[in-house]
Amino acid sequence: MSLRVRRSNLSFCNLEMETMKAKILIVEDEPAITETIQYALETDGFVTHCLSCGKPVISLLKKEAIDLIILDIGLPDINGMELCKEIRKTHSLPIIFLTARADEVDRVVGLEIGADDYVVKPFSPRELSARIRAVLRRTQQPVVAQSLNQAFQIDESRRQISYFGTPVELSRYEYNLLKILIHRPGHVYSRDQLMEMAWDEPEASMDRTVDAHIKNIRAKMKTIKPEIDPIITYRGVGYALKEDL
Ligand code: CA
Repeated sequence: MSLRVRRSNLSFCNLEMETMKAKILIVEDEPAITETIQYALETDGFVTHCLSCGKPVISLLKKEAIDLIILDIGLPDINGMELCKEIRKTHSLPIIFLTARADEVDRVVGLEIGADDYVVKPFSPRELSARIRAVLRRTQQPVVAQSLNQAFQIDESRRQISYFGTPVELSRYEYNLLKILIHRPGHVYSRDQLMEMAWDEPEASMDRTVDAHIKNIRAKMKTIKPEIDPIITYRGVGYALKEDL
């Protein structure tokens, strides 16, 4: 009961603030743990989504702009570490593992799995919330410091991106692609990753469509600043946004 009241109060928050809140996906099969985490995070101003098993995660990531995943290792349908590897094929968002076994920690933090952090059960929700903030600060800082403040401005509500103060006229997929690149300057995205993240039905498109759209985006930005090419091509790999704009 108290959880419900708390959540409905949060929905009265200033709408502008709402768009700034980080969306956290909690994947955990024990309802008591999920509720505890959800309550703590929403109290701290995060927006939460919850899943009690792992397999629906990939399709949810296509629909929702999730900023961070809290992932239990012991899930009923798929091992959290296996799921993490699947997610990493197409998404680079930060992942914090929940584990009940200290002997799993070595694998989790190792390069093999590529977690951003982990928490061993039982844990304090406050500690988890602090970890989330630290990971988000580490992974999102460049967006505010470099891209958004200087070269790029994104107006999500209008699906509008401005480049050095001038709005760029972008098609739907051009907008999606550029937004992804701006989100993590310097991060190299493969064509497959960009396709998965920017297209609604990636299966129906061909790989080179990404190249064609990047070419269009470049041409449009060149009309605004002819002396700069903000997108770096990594031959045979993919694309990244320049970090030093
Ligand atoms: Ca579990």
